[in-house]
Amino acid sequence: TAIKSFVFPGLRSRVVFGHGTIAETGAEIEKLGRGRSLVLSTPNQKADAEALAGQIGGLCAGLFTDATMHTPVEVTERALAAFKQSGADCVVALGGGSTIGLGKAIATRTGADQVVIPTTYAGSEMTDILGETAGGEKTTRRDPSILPETVIYDVDLTLTLPPALTITSGLNAMAHAAEALYARDRNPIITLMAADALKALAGALPALAKDAGDRKARAGALYGAWLCGTALGGASMALHHKLCHTLGGSFNTPHAETHAILLPHTVGFNSVEVPDLLAPVSDALGGTPGAALFDFAGSLGAPTKLRDFGLTESDLDRAAQIATKNPYWNPRPFDRESIRALLQDAWEGRRPP
Ligand code: NAD
Repeated sequence: TAIKSFVFPGLRSRVVFGHGTIAETGAEIEKLGRGRSLVLSTPNQKADAEALAGQIGGLCAGLFTDATMHTPVEVTERALAAFKQSGADCVVALGGGSTIGLGKAIATRTGADQVVIPTTYAGSEMTDILGETAGGEKTTRRDPSILPETVIYDVDLTLTLPPALTITSGLNAMAHAAEALYARDRNPIITLMAADALKALAGALPALAKDAGDRKARAGALYGAWLCGTALGGASMALHHKLCHTLGGSFNTPHAETHAILLPHTVGFNSVEVPDLLAPVSDALGGTPGAALFDFAGSLGAPTKLRDFGLTESDLDRAAQIATKNPYWNPRPFDRESIRALLQDAWEGRRPP
């Protein structure tokens, strides 16, 4: 293949990957030159956060365990008060995208360093992107202060990720890789990472659908999720991510499930325009990209119909209108009618060609 001109901005986070690596948390805080951390989690993962606080002892200045989906600013304000009161100089975020979002929100306001210990496959830890909700509206921005300094991937922590979320979160990750393949600002390193990520998840998710406690598959999935997160942070996303953002933001559909349902349809739609760029999807799964992703998701027992998430057909009209209000780049041109048709297919769970 001909190499076109590109910009490779580099890889900017330190990554520690393995089994039991949560034990490195204290050493990683010290490596950053910090000594007092605020440990963050959701209420669901409070016990794990408390165990971590005990483990790092004097390096923990306090705990905040109320992290909430979509980073509402009211929660961030309470967490900021806890951060200031504790005299912390860094945050340790233990959890999925919701907890990591809270750590980013604190870091971008205070300059605190972040040590992130991801426990899902959503990939937020590798991006300089922060989505926040105020007054019921979610806005997203990018800034270097948002990117975590250190990421500790501990495969053992993902063993408790519930089976259904394991699958949808894995498909959420694959969406980052798929869109990175045709991103306008892609580069050869991101393309390599995206292709290997798809292979890793194509191997790991079927094994995890059979046995969520399969440690080798857990390692493969988390490795794939790291690469997918890097692709999300290193390339601009297009139609798929915009549509998921519209549905999540305006209709409150659940994050990972929305990605899982839409992915075969958005990739199928774009594959008409850029089949060559999407070849790694076919290489990983077999078949044409949209149909291959649809069959893959179905074989894993993932949800396939938007209608199962409380959306009505008139919601689809409104979603198509919102999603096409502000134009953005996509490899295949689209309009309100084509997006409305795509949403109808996803609503009914129709197999893409
Ligand atoms: P989540 O963080 O909301 O987690 C879902 C639930 O699962 C939580 O209750 C959590 O405590 C629990 N959980 C997570 N890991 C677990 C584990 N290993 N064992 C047991 N329970 C566990 O879900 P998510 O899908 O990771 O994150 C979604 C949020 O992240 C959304 O708000 C999304 O917008 C955001 N996000 C942001 C970016 C970005 O780059 N800014 C990227 C991806 C996702």
